[in-house]
Amino acid sequence: MSTRPATYRLSKSRFLAGLQCHKQLWWRVHEPDASELIPSPALRNVLNQGTEVGRVARERVPAGVLIDLPFSEWDNRVAETREALKSEPPAIYEGMFLADETYAAVDILERSPRGYGVVEVKAANSLKPEHVPDVALQVHVLRRCGLPAEHAEVMHLNPDCRHPDLGNLFVREDVTAAVEGVLLGVPDEIAAQLRMLDGPLPDVPIGDHCTRPHDCPFLDRCWPRLPDHHVSSLYRIERKKALEYEADGYATIYDLPSDLELSVIHARQVKAVTRGRMVVEPTLAGALAPFTSPLAFLDFETVSLAVPRWNGCRPWQNVPAQFSVHIEERGRGMVHHEWIADGPGDPRPALADALVAACAGARKVVAYYASFERDCIRQLAEAVPSLAKELERIETKLVDLLPVVRNHVYHPDFGGSFSIKRTLPALVSGLSYADLEINEGETATVELLRLMFEGDGMRPEEKAGLREALRRYCERDTWAMVKMLEKLRSLIGDQLELF
Ligand code: SF4
Repeated sequence: MSTRPATYRLSKSRFLAGLQCHKQLWWRVHEPDASELIPSPALRNVLNQGTEVGRVARERVPAGVLIDLPFSEWDNRVAETREALKSEPPAIYEGMFLADETYAAVDILERSPRGYGVVEVKAANSLKPEHVPDVALQVHVLRRCGLPAEHAEVMHLNPDCRHPDLGNLFVREDVTAAVEGVLLGVPDEIAAQLRMLDGPLPDVPIGDHCTRPHDCPFLDRCWPRLPDHHVSSLYRIERKKALEYEADGYATIYDLPSDLELSVIHARQVKAVTRGRMVVEPTLAGALAPFTSPLAFLDFETVSLAVPRWNGCRPWQNVPAQFSVHIEERGRGMVHHEWIADGPGDPRPALADALVAACAGARKVVAYYASFERDCIRQLAEAVPSLAKELERIETKLVDLLPVVRNHVYHPDFGGSFSIKRTLPALVSGLSYADLEINEGETATVELLRLMFEGDGMRPEEKAGLREALRRYCERDTWAMVKMLEKLRSLIGDQLELF
């Protein structure tokens, strides 16, 4: 290491960002207030749940000393950790160490007969390759501080754990050997990052590293805007294949040669884009035949908790906590039913009850991407055995609108995606999600969780507003299916007129 004091210091998260890309790290350090760095609600949720996982993990390594200072008080935390070490406690939680101009926060530092073990707590259900350099940096800093860190583990969530037995909530995996392998390169990488930060913005070409192991927040700054109908917008095309097309001189779908061998869906997409209008296959009528009235249109919203709270749930399990049903009722037309959780209790018994009542009388139950609804219904049947029979009946009635669209229709505005957010405005003019306060699923999940667990502390008007925004989002999902099916049926009518 250079003896010249560095202008900037690294932290674990900075070091890992720099491992992915020096340019990303430069922006993170030099533009800490960049709008791209404001955490999304989904990321904030993951961070909050990670804090809870860390708290529970500490109970599994008892009798330690917690360095209980705000995260931003870096140097005070270093000093307090040093002080805590003097009394040689069995463990130190959230300790902070500094060496080589690099701060390393250690979730759990555990004393062992021969030295210390680093335990990195992860709110993930498995060990991931990117966890190893994270732990390696901690071991490097500890050793440079003179502490014999001889052992390294990742303590992650156990996907086989089921509430209420949380005795096996964590799995501890020994990563000492992998960490030792990575450690060799850590000093040079720290030095390179510190040098780079003292200079101008480095020139780093875009590549696979931009999305691995995480999506870089600065993708929009570096990646050029692609032209409409770029070959990468072919439905689910592999990146490698799109690059091959580009290398062959085919930048957009319009450039593809007419004799190119394509999958059925790609061929339909190319046909629709090059003709500039929707393609409807004659097979659409047959695909719609199972959608027999009276129909119910069903959509669930779910929440997931890292530390499970409800019977039978595993870490991060998607638990249904809201539904919307539009149902055709004789003499009343389309009737809307809904249910939304209120409070932190298990939502499944009351939701299952309301769902069975809402779907009563339906011959078929329509969903868009029905495997999600199927999973939710099966989970409800397991959680509420008294309604298992009725729920199984709903499951057997499920019909899926997504493959009907995907396998029989393509509109140029789909842009290579069959998500309802893309297909709805293309098929049903004037109807989309753009007018809604909550307009995509990830935000709905986080906000539903907030309503359930923080609703009691909210002002009544805030809580009512949040509930209404969630209600309107879920209702839009089922109304979208109602209007989409109407449109698809009208397309069959248009086809018949043509013949
Ligand atoms: S988009 Fe890619 S090249 Fe640009 S900063 Fe991010 S990782 Fe680096």
